[in-house]
Amino acid sequence: NEGASDAKNLKVKLVLLGDSGVGKSCIVLRFVRGQFDPTSKVTVGASFLSQTIALQDSSTVKFEIWDTAGQERYAALAPLYYRGAAVAVIVYDITSPESFTKAQYWVKELQKHGSPDIIMALVGNKADLQERREVPAQDGIEYAEKNGMFFIETSAKTADNINQLFEEIAKRLPRLLP
Ligand code: GDP
Ligand code: MG
Repeated sequence: NEGASDAKNLKVKLVLLGDSGVGKSCIVLRFVRGQFDPTSKVTVGASFLSQTIALQDSSTVKFEIWDTAGQERYAALAPLYYRGAAVAVIVYDITSPESFTKAQYWVKELQKHGSPDIIMALVGNKADLQERREVPAQDGIEYAEKNGMFFIETSAKTADNINQLFEEIAKRLPRLLP
């Protein structure tokens, strides 16, 4: 039964949440294809990609990644999108305080309506734009700590910390007993 989870091979649903334009699709594209396309157009509707990573103990995690444009505009549809997700990656743009505020909205929404054991990661993206930074890293660190989340700053453009983001999530997943 390939495709199912077993003790060594997990399959998990991961959703991306956050304001439009923060770089969610670019993070996914960088992780799955190793590419960054600054001219890429927004995907309409849902896009679905999967990527498997191997951990040090030779177990694997297959991420089924849900990246939609709709959740940004139609908040009422969001529960359909994150239902059953084991992992939520909540993204903001370090040059946009508004996007950081929106990220906090998504954290609260998931705390209220998400699966109680969902793993949440807070991601400050566009870390390559240091000279335009408006959200101090310390603000992300503190907010994540208070809310029991993993925090990382990434750049989909330079690939900085993109693999680390997914590796850290994989390490935090509860493992099935062998
Ligand atoms: P989404 O709406 O959250 O999916 O955002 P996109 O992935 O479509 O990216 C929005 C814009 O931000 C695009 O113009 C990207 O080229 C740009 N972008 C995404 N990630 C980065 C990054 O890490 N650094 C920089 N400088 N630009 C980025
Ligand atoms: Mg997108």
